[in-house]
Amino acid sequence: MGKKNKKDDNLRYCNFCGRTEKNVSFLTQGVQASICDDCATLIAKMAKQNQEPISKVNIEFDKLPTPKEIHKELNKFVIGQENAKKTISIAVYNHYKRILHHDTKDNDVELDKSNILLLGPTGTGKTLIAQTLARLLEVPFAIVDATVLTEAGYVGEDVDNIITRLLQAANYNVADAERGIIYIDELDKIGKKSGNPSITRDVSGEGVQQALLKILEGTVSSVMPEGGRKHPEAKLVNVNTKNILFIGGGAFNGLENIIERRIGKNNIGFGTEKHSIKDQNRSEILSKAMPQDLVHFGFIPELIGRLPIATTLEQLDEKALLSILSEPKNSLIKQYKKLFEFENIGLEFEQDALVEIAKIAFHKDTGARALRSTIEHVMLNVMYEIPGHKNIKTIIITKDYVITNKKYKIIKKKKK
Ligand code: ADP
Repeated sequence: MGKKNKKDDNLRYCNFCGRTEKNVSFLTQGVQASICDDCATLIAKMAKQNQEPISKVNIEFDKLPTPKEIHKELNKFVIGQENAKKTISIAVYNHYKRILHHDTKDNDVELDKSNILLLGPTGTGKTLIAQTLARLLEVPFAIVDATVLTEAGYVGEDVDNIITRLLQAANYNVADAERGIIYIDELDKIGKKSGNPSITRDVSGEGVQQALLKILEGTVSSVMPEGGRKHPEAKLVNVNTKNILFIGGGAFNGLENIIERRIGKNNIGFGTEKHSIKDQNRSEILSKAMPQDLVHFGFIPELIGRLPIATTLEQLDEKALLSILSEPKNSLIKQYKKLFEFENIGLEFEQDALVEIAKIAFHKDTGARALRSTIEHVMLNVMYEIPGHKNIKTIIITKDYVITNKKYKIIKKKKK
């Protein structure tokens, strides 16, 4: 077998395409037949297309990190936010325990899914927490922005596209996507626009909430693998959302006033200072949020019911910002040092320079988000001037340089 006809009697050939070993780049001889590399690749492709997707996300009960372990891992990346980290660690642990429980035969008691709601100002770590969780659990993760969602049929994105994003993050493996995590950012922006008796429909408010409710509850969502609007000829993929963990986040500006009204100003001791609720106090008030407050804010009760675990993130103070600069595993300072390492140049920040950067960022009022733009600005001249210099050993960023942007310290290499 595997020998070509009379003329090329001594040549082996591919039993699938008939080409001789001279005409292919690689030929493997089996017991009774040979196959060339092209045919082998083609067959492998055909087999793959016919296979059921095998889940790469293989969470096993023994390997499921405990709440304490999840918390510990979050600590490597997220500074502060202790309450939120603890609540989320427990919620995520229970979520995956629930999935595993469901997979076993012993499922006489149906455990409800508990999606999570994160309340807190911008730049306090809401997305970071969700992202870190997904990485830790090795499940697909997608971030979607609620502000672009509209009811199906209106300008904007269909709510189903949320699932498409997750499917894409899961490399189109449906089974993996079905165990993933979706972070819905700016969820507060889809609160009903109250006081709008509506000649025009509220297509980005209640309509979106209703659509979201379905996927949060658990439904089989038919999505376009490439996103976009559905059309009759489109090949749709079915994704069951029952086990997908949804984490909603938002600043919920104004919710504190609703809570305050419910509790009564005096009970929380603000007296006449209503206009100057300090941010720190704001998160304290937000932590008292009850479902009815969120309904007042503009959410349909059913949706709130599907986000039963709510936790508050605090505004980060200067001290927290200072820690964020250098402590997390992939902190900004570590990243800049790495950049300079590529050029064999050391980069140091004097402590009071770091304090100054944190101070400037704090006043920008966008949480830790401001750190990046602040440090980018500080480093601009250095990054422009330094590359290409062969005799520099170390650059030192001083407080004075952070303020004036004029002169940083340079330590030169010793001459040989
Ligand atoms: P948001 O709360 O608006 O979702 P993000 O999580 O996107 O904020 O954070 C914005 C940036 O600030 C990210 O680069 C993130 O790494 C950093 N950051 C925010 N909060 C923290 C925190 N508590 N600890 C460490 N880094 C943080």
